[in-house]
Amino acid sequence: MENNENKGLGNNPNRPNQPNQKPNGKRRFSLMWIYAILAIVLIAVNFLWKDSSAPREDINQGKLIELLEKQQVERIDLVNKNEAEIFLNQKGLSEHFPEVTPGVDGTTSAPSYIYKIGSLERFEEMVETVQKEKGIANPVYINNVERKSWLSDFLIGWLPFIILIVVWIVIMRGMGRGIGGGGGAGSIFNIGKSRAQLYDKNTSVNVTFKDVAGLEEAKVEIMEVVDFLKNPEKYTKLGGKIPKGVLLVGPPGTGKTLLAKSVAGEANVPFFSLSGSDFVEMFVGVGASRVRDLFNNAKSKAPCIIFIDEIDAIGRARGKSAITGGNDERESTLNQLLTEMDGFGTNSGVIVLAATNRADILDKALLRAGRFDRQIYVELPDIVGRREIFEVHMRGLKLADDVDKEFLAKQTPGFSGADIANVCNEAALMAARKGKEMIDKQDFLDAVDRIIGGLEKKNKIITADEKKVIAFHEAGHATTSWLLQYAHPLVKVTIVPRGNSLGAAWYLPEERQITTKEQMYHEMVATLGGRAAEQVVFGQISTGALSDLEKVTKQAFAMVTYYGLDDEIGNRSYYDSTGQQDYSLTKPYSEKTAETIDQQVSKIIEKAYQEAISILTQHRDGLTELANKLIDKEVIFGEDLENIFGKRPWGNSEDEKLKNAALKAAEKETEDRPENA
Ligand code: ADP
Repeated sequence: MENNENKGLGNNPNRPNQPNQKPNGKRRFSLMWIYAILAIVLIAVNFLWKDSSAPREDINQGKLIELLEKQQVERIDLVNKNEAEIFLNQKGLSEHFPEVTPGVDGTTSAPSYIYKIGSLERFEEMVETVQKEKGIANPVYINNVERKSWLSDFLIGWLPFIILIVVWIVIMRGMGRGIGGGGGAGSIFNIGKSRAQLYDKNTSVNVTFKDVAGLEEAKVEIMEVVDFLKNPEKYTKLGGKIPKGVLLVGPPGTGKTLLAKSVAGEANVPFFSLSGSDFVEMFVGVGASRVRDLFNNAKSKAPCIIFIDEIDAIGRARGKSAITGGNDERESTLNQLLTEMDGFGTNSGVIVLAATNRADILDKALLRAGRFDRQIYVELPDIVGRREIFEVHMRGLKLADDVDKEFLAKQTPGFSGADIANVCNEAALMAARKGKEMIDKQDFLDAVDRIIGGLEKKNKIITADEKKVIAFHEAGHATTSWLLQYAHPLVKVTIVPRGNSLGAAWYLPEERQITTKEQMYHEMVATLGGRAAEQVVFGQISTGALSDLEKVTKQAFAMVTYYGLDDEIGNRSYYDSTGQQDYSLTKPYSEKTAETIDQQVSKIIEKAYQEAISILTQHRDGLTELANKLIDKEVIFGEDLENIFGKRPWGNSEDEKLKNAALKAAEKETEDRPENA
């Protein structure tokens, strides 16, 4: 029974409804038939077009002369100047082909012999002289016959074109299918049609708001949009205008697409979904035509929602850069989009939803009121959000009792929703690989490690000396960060090689919205702590600090040029939020300022390095103890540091309390929600 129900192959209810789509198999079937019939006709014509009423034999010159001398030839037809057809008279026929009876004209309709001509003049001369020498009274003359074979003429004249056309059609069909991936856009004639997938009441979307954790404000705003569509009078009654576009902005993996999909599930209005790159094609003008088609389709289904994912693919600011040159096709697509969004009236019942992670590079015209009037920011989740996302993604998992969502949320600062989904999946895979019945806490922690650091490289060859250097390097980071007030507290240090790194120290970044100069500086000291430890302990430095140095340099540069945190440069920022500066070759400051910037960057980094050295020299014993422990155990945690250096005096217990209270409140709220009960 169950099997039968699952069999609905061609009728997948989750597949979006694709208008105009013909059943593909049928079309191919009928075309194949046409090809087959054509081929059969050609072959048949080739075989049957020959007159087989008389024997056709090739003869040589001697035989021809003999026939002429014996006066057995009725007629010679010179066909196309290269072949002579010899028709025998009654006498000749009765001697050579007694079984053939001649027609009323005394000969056969088809030649009896064929003589292949080498030289035309010599042939004519030969026929004439042979008969003259014999003194034949009424000699046979040669008839010139032009004979055209329609088939070969046709083939020579048209075959190349036919082949070209067939190849072209085949390529175009393949291309249409390849790029469009369905939606009735399989053929070249549909290339200007929009490639949006349509979700409406016939197609069930199984993502709802329940699957989107956190993002409460975004959900409220988006639901309001849906409400605009369903009850426009409520808003227009007071003279208000319904927004035309809503832009979801945020870093990758924060759930923008998921949110849009859930709108499709919740809204009960038709929902067109496509990606910005779907407009782009190798043909000029296709993008604009697809935009027109999309809006036409949408208007015919109003009220409805259009969702354009990754809108930056077409919405990038129009050609300002003289260097790279404009992309005309993209620009005309964007122009068409702008025109369409202006064109439809506020009450036409179409709302455009778009998502991007690069709102800064979007064309200003796109963002102005009347187009995408509303922007919804979808941020990386905070600790409460992360806990909820864990909850959503743990729904289908078999969890051991020791799995604590709160703890995991604390362990994953800076993770996006997509990262967390990945952690849950990785944990399940890891547990399965170890043959466990349940997924436990350790699996989740391993998954987090793996996602941050990459796969463990168990068989990487590391010499004892190298291991010592790595251990001191990581211990240097750990020690400095433990002893500096504003550096992030350490979670764990490992010298197990993973991915590209030989070791790592992980911190628990505080979730802060602003960072002070002091905090940035302390972080830099901690970052340089690795190299400083090598210097203090071994008296020499190594290449192992590459990524630390890169990070510190960028940070120092940002302090000086972006955040105005340097006294020499002062309260200035050369940051360009429009992204236009990337294209320009000139810098927004003078050469002199550039020199000062360089000096200040070096100064800051040098000062931080010296501070790291001084801290580590002071606490050399602790550093050595930590490094030895690390060599011994390979992984150590915050508690080990506490044992060596004592508790950090700056535990911000107030903040902890705040965070815990927020978590508790969130938990209570989810318990209260009826769908989770
Ligand atoms: P983007 O913002 O780049 O469009 P997506 O919406 O594609 O990100 O998110 C990718 C995946 O991450 C989703 O399919 C989902 O599994 C997970 N995810 C992201 N944010 C959330 C969230 N708030 N709640 C639940 N899952 C989320």
